Amino acid sequence: MKEDKMKFGTKVIHAGIEPDPTTGAIMTPIYQTSTFIQEAPGVHKGYEYARTQNPTRTVLENNLAHLENGKYGICFASGLSASDAIIKTLSAGDEVISSNDLYGGSYRLFTKQYEKFGLKFHFVDMNDPQNVVEKINGSTKLIWIETPTNPMLNIVDIEALVNIAKAKNILVCVDNTFASPYLQNPLDWGADLVCHSATKYLGGHSDVILGAVITKDKELADELHFIQNASGAIPGPNDCWLVLRGIKTLHLRVERSCQNAQKIAEYLEAHPKVNQVNYPGLKSHRGYELAKKQMRFPGAMISFTLKDDSIEAAKKFLSDTKLFSLAESLGGVESLVEHPATMTHGSIPLEERLKTGVTDSLIRMSVGVEDVEDLIADLEDALR
Ligand SMILES: *Cc1c(COP(=O)(O)O)cnc(C)c1O
Repeated sequence: MKEDKMKFGTKVIHAGIEPDPTTGAIMTPIYQTSTFIQEAPGVHKGYEYARTQNPTRTVLENNLAHLENGKYGICFASGLSASDAIIKTLSAGDEVISSNDLYGGSYRLFTKQYEKFGLKFHFVDMNDPQNVVEKINGSTKLIWIETPTNPMLNIVDIEALVNIAKAKNILVCVDNTFASPYLQNPLDWGADLVCHSATKYLGGHSDVILGAVITKDKELADELHFIQNASGAIPGPNDCWLVLRGIKTLHLRVERSCQNAQKIAEYLEAHPKVNQVNYPGLKSHRGYELAKKQMRFPGAMISFTLKDDSIEAAKKFLSDTKLFSLAESLGGVESLVEHPATMTHGSIPLEERLKTGVTDSLIRMSVGVEDVEDLIADLEDALR
């Protein structure tokens, strides 16, 4: 069967993956080697040095390209080094328009690393595409979208922003980490680049750090491969193998997590001690219809505030959950809870944080694949 005809649950197992030709091993071997023997200078089997190419990494890159309906996958040592590589395709003087409600590490990378090299970043509320239009000028080269946003779970209209960008020859990149390729495929809506922290849903077991960029565009892929080799922020073969293994159950894990998240969001919304619940699967959420349009399910991330909006109440809740472990990160099989203001979003200045709604009382959770009755019982205990 041709890989682009496969449905998602078949792709995760088979697309871009062949049994090992030398032994028949059904699982991709971990090619733990730094170099490859050449028969004569320049005569080799496609592999010379493992920073440039590694067979385990190649399989993961091809598999990811299929999952995002792209042509090229380029893997990096972490999600942030994947984002870093994309920004390195720009030059001094170029401008980027980014979501204002985004991963704290991306904000830090843009402002602390790249502003000093002469790049300019505008952070806007992408709930209204008009805010993006207002920042576009002759130097705008890239629109950086995160959707669902982190941690407010707003839904950004990928298609609308692609239409605005295309008219002005601006590239669009979507950080698709929160959705995973099972829920959302930005390249289908016309985005030029998709990036992932594979550390999250793709790996899925909280045991590896890895990043990836996927594109259909040969020129962009060549440039990113060049940066991958020139800067050298590559993942090791063991880490590639862990992500390949995680991906095989991506659809099962994400689907169960989303079902659990829907029930938990409804439970929280009805709870007398809870104030605001942000989850795109709730009818009360302003991105509800848009999530239906561009996502398979509304995801497994929820954020909310308590009626008692003191930081003490939030901290008490965060220490009182037992099944929901207090930790940064997301997308693993286990449920996690965290405090954006002091943890994941601590690197974003207070004024910026408050503009997007990341108050001291906001709580974010990543819902895992446990039995939902147990998860709700844990929340009930902590809220009591
Ligand atoms: C975690 C995360 C990143 C960074 O990925 P690392 O693998 O930790 O470097 C980038 N974007 C989003 C949305 C993330 O959640």
